Amino acid sequence: MESVLPFKFKPAELAQRKYSGHLTLPVAHFKRFSALLADNSGEVKADARFFVGEGAQVNATGSINAIVAVTCQRCMHAMRLNINCEFSVAFISDESAEVFAEDAFDPLLLDEHQEVSAVDFLEDELILQVPLRLVHSEEQDCDKSVIEAVNTAGDNGPVKTHNPFSGLDKLLKN
Ligand SMILES: [Zn+2]
Repeated sequence: MESVLPFKFKPAELAQRKYSGHLTLPVAHFKRFSALLADNSGEVKADARFFVGEGAQVNATGSINAIVAVTCQRCMHAMRLNINCEFSVAFISDESAEVFAEDAFDPLLLDEHQEVSAVDFLEDELILQVPLRLVHSEEQDCDKSVIEAVNTAGDNGPVKTHNPFSGLDKLLKN
């Protein structure tokens, strides 16, 4: 029986009872992640399994699934980014705490109540999944009309560019 991961939780308690659950959160809840996107639409779906690992280290592994809208840096049109990844987290109570887990676990700092929010739990992993260079994978997928509009600096194009010839008419009349 799957259960829904609470909005805020104590990983140590969940690990003690080998909890596994899932959650769905609107993309808009992830402020740092959604700042990288074209809009806040969509949901983040995740499942997680908590366990006590080597050296009594509290860990969680799971997967994240989200379809979000990003802006293509070549044609400036929105495109879909499909995020599908696995994660492994080692919860630590202070920065200096030694992580007993293997390198495969990303350390995640707990708050002063030994809790973590579902957003903090997933957000760093989501941000890592956004490529630095966001363009349509094939140039022909980019919207041609937009590229032409940008190149010719058309007045009705979606990208406003300064027209170096805008004052020319006036000059010619004098
Ligand atoms: Zn494009």
